Amino acid sequence: MSDILKASRPKGRSRRPKTYDEDRTCATAECDTKLSRYNRAEFCHTHRPVRYPRLRGVLNVEE
Ligand SMILES: [Zn+2]
Repeated sequence: MSDILKASRPKGRSRRPKTYDEDRTCATAECDTKLSRYNRAEFCHTHRPVRYPRLRGVLNVEE
């Protein structure tokens, strides 16, 4: 029997957890809150954009 069949593995692909830059800070210019490198949000908790569910009521400008 010959030894032709060898297990071959693709190489050059290392698996590493995806992280972000270590020194990222909140995207708000005047805010220096550091963001976790595992947190992909651009803003700190305080400045994170808030979604308002729905405008309540409609403003009637006309009479
Ligand atoms: Zn902030």
